[in-house]
Amino acid sequence: MTLKLPIYMDNHATTQADPRVVETMLPYFTQVFGNAASRSHSFGWSADEAVATAREQVATLIGASKAKEIVFTSGATESNNLAIKGVAHFYRDKGNHIITTKIEHKAVLDTCKRLEVEGFEVTYLGVDKLGRIDPEDVRRAITDKTILVSVMLANNEVGTIQPIKEIGAITRERGVLLHSDAVQGVGKTPFDVEEMNVDLASLTAHKLYGPKGVGALYVRRSRPRVRIATEMDGGGHEFGMRSGTLNVPGIVGFGKACELLTAEWRAEAERFRGQRNHLLDLLTSALDEVHMNGSFEHRLPNNLNLSFGFVEGESMLMAINDVAVSSGSACTSASLEPSYVLHAMGVTDDAAHSSIRFGLGRFTTDEEIEYVAKLVIEKVRKLRDMSPLWEMHKEGIDLTTVQWTAH
Ligand SMILES: *Cc1c(COP(=O)(O)O)cnc(C)c1O
Repeated sequence: MTLKLPIYMDNHATTQADPRVVETMLPYFTQVFGNAASRSHSFGWSADEAVATAREQVATLIGASKAKEIVFTSGATESNNLAIKGVAHFYRDKGNHIITTKIEHKAVLDTCKRLEVEGFEVTYLGVDKLGRIDPEDVRRAITDKTILVSVMLANNEVGTIQPIKEIGAITRERGVLLHSDAVQGVGKTPFDVEEMNVDLASLTAHKLYGPKGVGALYVRRSRPRVRIATEMDGGGHEFGMRSGTLNVPGIVGFGKACELLTAEWRAEAERFRGQRNHLLDLLTSALDEVHMNGSFEHRLPNNLNLSFGFVEGESMLMAINDVAVSSGSACTSASLEPSYVLHAMGVTDDAAHSSIRFGLGRFTTDEEIEYVAKLVIEKVRKLRDMSPLWEMHKEGIDLTTVQWTAH
């Protein structure tokens, strides 16, 4: 088989839609184009039926007991906003304290920042050097003013899986709601809202081989019944929680993507694990000074985040430009600092600047793994050969003791 370039290995950013998903969506642009809210004719009824099926498919994937607990949105940014602002605004009289973590996605962190401006108090929990939250830190942070805890299922940079079940036991015991941004973990690691006592969960289709621009918020309906304030007013769609004409083709595709994962995710996760571990073996057996960022044990099977000592992340990205990956260094993102996630884990700026995130996906082939490993090994060697620091390191000079500036 010939290898097709460029190679996509950035599946935490987005995924290619599965052809089976696209095929399922197509009739909903042309034949079945009705508005799912139209109650007076069959065009509307057919669209509504398709949405009902998708709602079941999404609910099944996350173990929700009722399809009505799924609220369709435009994606996880909206779901995170709706969950956190919705709870904050509904339960404002009960308390004004929210607990989250320093390594959440910006859609959670910036939402919390906005609520701080409105007078809410937010505790941002730190993580250990492997990127894990200690559930006991959650317990200690809860006060009688706490209304919500928001902890992601798995991190989008380092793939660290959080102890959501342990945290859910604590929040349930203390009568505090638990929201989880489950975007990266769903379909790659076990996630069950009933078993884990999760009250709200954010999902997005484009991270699980569905289309972009459609997502969902799970909102628990019983034990306890969770209420949220509306953040989008209008025709009262989605049980009054999120108005706006439904994106029927997108929702149908999202449902299909969830159905496929329910059937296939365990086998797929095993394949990821094999390919990912092989990539790791190839790189670490050929190269020195390769450090893994984040836990190996509690990690998404498709994630590898490595710092290559003495190599700048930016230079690496350029050197391997026919492989799409991303780096924790500054210039790849809109912000100026290196990755705040790596920073929260205590990774040094140097190591953060030299980090590369490999995100494997459904369409990653064994040939691609071999090619990427070979290319990275070759380029790291080449970049190090040009580096005076690498030269000094090889001569045994401890660079931390070197005085760089003249006094
Ligand atoms: C991608 C991502 C989001 C944002 O999802 P969109 O649907 O693109 O808005 C939120 N949280 C995490 C963890 C993500 O990886």
